[in-house]
Amino acid sequence: MEKAEKLEVTKSGHLRKPDWIRVKAPTSKGYNETRNLMRGLKLNTVCEEAACPNIGECWTKKHTTVMILGDTCTRACRFCNIKTGKGNPVDPDEPAHVAEMVVVTQMKHIVITSVDRDDLKDGGADQFVKVISAIREASPDTTIEILTPDFRNKPGALETVVAAKPDVFNHNLETVPRLYTRIRPGARYFHSLNLLSKVKTLDPEIFTKSGIMVGLGEEEIEVLQVMDDMRSADIDFMTIGQYLQPTKKHVDVEEFIKPDQFLKFKKRAKAKGFLHVSSSPLTRSSHHASEDFEILQAARLELLAKKQNKIHQDAPIDIDEMKKHNPNYEF
Ligand code: SF4
Repeated sequence: MEKAEKLEVTKSGHLRKPDWIRVKAPTSKGYNETRNLMRGLKLNTVCEEAACPNIGECWTKKHTTVMILGDTCTRACRFCNIKTGKGNPVDPDEPAHVAEMVVVTQMKHIVITSVDRDDLKDGGADQFVKVISAIREASPDTTIEILTPDFRNKPGALETVVAAKPDVFNHNLETVPRLYTRIRPGARYFHSLNLLSKVKTLDPEIFTKSGIMVGLGEEEIEVLQVMDDMRSADIDFMTIGQYLQPTKKHVDVEEFIKPDQFLKFKKRAKAKGFLHVSSSPLTRSSHHASEDFEILQAARLELLAKKQNKIHQDAPIDIDEMKKHNPNYEF
């Protein structure tokens, strides 16, 4: 992969962020209003817990990614800032609170994620369903995107969630398979891929989405292979963003990928047939999710129209019908 030009190393021995990564501290009125609303409704967000660099931009526009099932994750991925430990008790009021937030902010499209809940029998699937139902009841026009854990060793959990018919089903592969044991030790690459493939088999109407972080030491060829794997699982939308080290305890950034390389990835991924690709240093799976959903819908319609057109063009020639309309022509 084309490397970034020589980057300064900080006193603590870490790479200093390049200009294209730096973002302003959030200070807007809209940001504060969103923050107060979330606190008031006792809702956790991945925006805060994962220290997302886009929080100023998103919260100013009242776009949040709600993290259900508590603030403590039962896995310990080496890239993630979410607290790890024993899962919190499931909050029965959470679905109503999420729905209230959607109504108050008049959200067109919401992204719901959760911590991993390996401690729960259903992996948290039932709470996803309750949240989806509460939003549907309170705000039927809001489209719903879920970003789920891998439901590993939770038989029936995936089917339960798919039956609730979210508009978009996202599950991130996070990195290339070679780095799983170092970066995502509790997960399995092919299990995650298979999960997404199964969503499409169970309900082809649901858009599927997945993403990876780059800058963890992966090779370009490995990223291209992940694209192929995702296409073979019929994934509609791929996201690619720069990994940022949340604290010194987390795995180091190996390199800052240049914006040009992100563009190159985008072109390669588009050529492989994804309906949509978001690839930039600050791409996160829920960044601009509402706008991306509209792009996905339009791209699917365009693809269907092309397919229908092709079926029309490829239709076998009916000689008898042609003779009927051209009696004087010799066939
Ligand atoms: S990109 Fe996603 S996680 Fe980050 S602030 Fe925006 S909504 Fe939250």
